[in-house]
This record gives sequence, structure tokens and C-alpha cells, in this order.
Amino acid sequence: MLLPGATIGMLGGGQLGRLFTIAARSLGYKVIVLEPDANSPAGQLAERHFIASYHNETVLDLFGQQCDVITTEFENIPAATLDRLAHYCPVRPAAQAVQVTQDRVVEKNFVQQCGLAPVPFAAIRHTADLEAARQSIRFPAILKTARLGYDGKGQIQVATAEDLAAAFEQLQQVDCVLEQRIELEREISVILARNIVGEVRCFPVAENVHRQGILHQTIAPARISDTLANAAQTAAQTIANALDFVGVMAVEFFVTTTGEILVNEMAPRTHNSGHYTLDACLTSQFEQQVRMVCGLPFGDTQQHTPVVMTNLLGDLWGDSQPSWNALLESPASKLHLYGKLAARPGRKMGHFSTLAPQLDTALVEADRVFARLSQDATA
Ligand code: ADP
Ligand code: MG
Repeated sequence: MLLPGATIGMLGGGQLGRLFTIAARSLGYKVIVLEPDANSPAGQLAERHFIASYHNETVLDLFGQQCDVITTEFENIPAATLDRLAHYCPVRPAAQAVQVTQDRVVEKNFVQQCGLAPVPFAAIRHTADLEAARQSIRFPAILKTARLGYDGKGQIQVATAEDLAAAFEQLQQVDCVLEQRIELEREISVILARNIVGEVRCFPVAENVHRQGILHQTIAPARISDTLANAAQTAAQTIANALDFVGVMAVEFFVTTTGEILVNEMAPRTHNSGHYTLDACLTSQFEQQVRMVCGLPFGDTQQHTPVVMTNLLGDLWGDSQPSWNALLESPASKLHLYGKLAARPGRKMGHFSTLAPQLDTALVEADRVFARLSQDATA
């Protein structure tokens, strides 16, 4: 067990790393961030910030020497980096678990090996693969780059089989996956923690509303049956076990209009759809990550209040900040900002959680506050 006072290394300096840093520092740990951006959300709050690329071996060695354990907030850390750091101290999660989630084709094959259903897909690596994909996938479909996509980036809607070649061209013929477009009843996600000896605790299932491929709101608990919630948690646990995962991870699911659940994707880290735990659960996903990487017991994942989490994207920023009054005047809405200097459309700048004794009330209030912030942005 690594007790408070120990040093945790964090690979990546984004908002997930920042919220982790806050949790770790309140528990009395030191945090060192490795992240190329000099003004990163996590680097601002860490004890120390190495500003270097994830490939810089000299810095990796220095970083490794100073940490007692290393974790990550970013799935695209090169496996070689994680392996190199593992010579100095435990790296949780390990390279092999992170790697599976770095490539959509590898990830979907893995989901199938777990006995679970991904969205119907076909791998496309060369133009020669296009014909087989046209035959096996029903259109409309979505073509996604196999690697490095996030927030809907690297995705093209493909209406008919005839449009596929042009879409592949548009994505520069990098490795891709073609997915059938699913008619969604809703989207849900499971955030879970798994410890060194393989025990698992799940947070309550969250319901996610996306706009233009980017998470807009998380509603928790999800408005689904217990049977469906249990099925999602069991599936997520199966995946975590198969990955031999240590830390906090997320699994995103589609619920189809026929009531089936399909695995959309996994994240080997805390997740935007788990931000609701900060204000609505006894333990946040970030504290739980600290506990898992340091070998501490689980914190209680129980949710104490219904909550709606709403993302604040750069679109709400004009020349200046949004006028926060609408939000600050809502007494049970909690603002979290990530310290990002430049606001760009689609960039996640912060979020707010709205709590209420009834979920419906929280939803109405969150929408009211968000509408006022949006009005101000367009005024
Ligand atoms: P990202 O890595 O950008 O999160 P996702 O594959 O999760 O990529 O896609 C983002 C969102 O786009 C999903 O949450 C969902 O709303 C929508 N989407 C993606 N794939 C499909 C699909 N096959 N059918 C229906 N909607 C989809
Ligand atoms: Mg996603």
C-alpha cells in the first residue's frame, strides 16, 4: 500500500489529470505530471510538471525515478512509454490493457472474445477491404479512424455503400472501422474500479446525451431497468477482468430500440461521464483512481443525490467568459472549470453538476441554466 506522502506520476495533463491531481493532493499525495503542453490543466496544480513528449527517454527516466507509482488520464500514451516506466515503479493500468483501447479494431475483437456484442463492424485497412465491408455492413454507417479519435473526431457519416470509397479517401486511407449506424434508444456508461487482486466496484450506471458526437449531459442514475443496469455492469466487469485492469475505467454502451445492449467503446481511465460522481457520490471516480493505483481499499461508490452533469464547451465562450451568474444563482449547481486558456468550439472547458432530490427536477434546472448560458453566448 502506498500511503499519503507518496508520489504519484500522472501521464497526461488534461482535465482528467487535473481532477485526479485535486483528489490525490487532498488525500496528501504528491503528484508529478508529464505532459508536453506547458500550460496544461493538470500541470497547473501538480507538485511538479515535466514538459516533454511521451517519447523523450531522458525525461521518462527522470520521471520514473521520482515516482512511487504511475497512472494515466490519456489512452494514447505509447505502450513503449508505459513499458519503459514500468522498470522504475508500478504502472497502473499496465501497457497491455491500455493498448487494447488504442485501436478500435483491436478493441472490438477483444469485446467479441469476451463473449459480448460490439456494434456490427468491418475493418478497413486497404481499398481492397472496401467491397467486403459494403457487403457485410448495413447502411447508413459510420466510418471511423481506428486510432486517435475522440469527441466524434475522425468520423464520417456514410449514407450509402456508394459513398464509402470517398469517405475512406477523406480519412486519408488510414486504418479504419466501418460501423453500422445503430438506432439508439439511449446511451449509457459504466465507470468501475478494479484493484490489484481483481476485485471490482461499479459506480451507478450513467445515461449519456451526446450532441455532434460530444458528450453534452450525463444523467445519473440512468433511467433504465435494474435488469439492464445489472447487465451493463456485468459486461463492464467482464471486460475489466479480461484486461486484467488495475485502476478506474469506463465502458460506453448503446441501448438499441429493441432493448439490446452493444458495447460502443472502452476508456482505460476516468471518463467524462463519471464527472457526476464528484458531487453526487460518496467517493468520486478520481478519489477511486487514487485508491486503486495506491493499493488502498475501495471508497464507497454509492450515489447520495440524483444529478445531471452538463459539459461547458468552448462554444459558450465569446470574446470573454460566459456570464456565470445564471449558474452561480442556481444553488445546487456546482461549477468545475479546467483552467484552459483558449476556448475553441467543441473544446471541453468545464462542466457543472446540478443536484436535486428528484432526477426530473435536476434535469429541468440543468437545462434552464444551460439555456441561459447559451443565450448569453449568442446575445
Ligand atoms: P469517440 O471516441 O469520439 O467518443 P464514439 O465511437 O464513442 O467516439 O462516438 C461518439 C458518439 O457518436 C457516440 O457516443 C454516439 O452518440 C455516436 N455514435 C458513434 N457510433 C455510432 C453508431 N455506430 N451508431 C449510432 N451512433 C453512434
Ligand atoms: Mg465515445
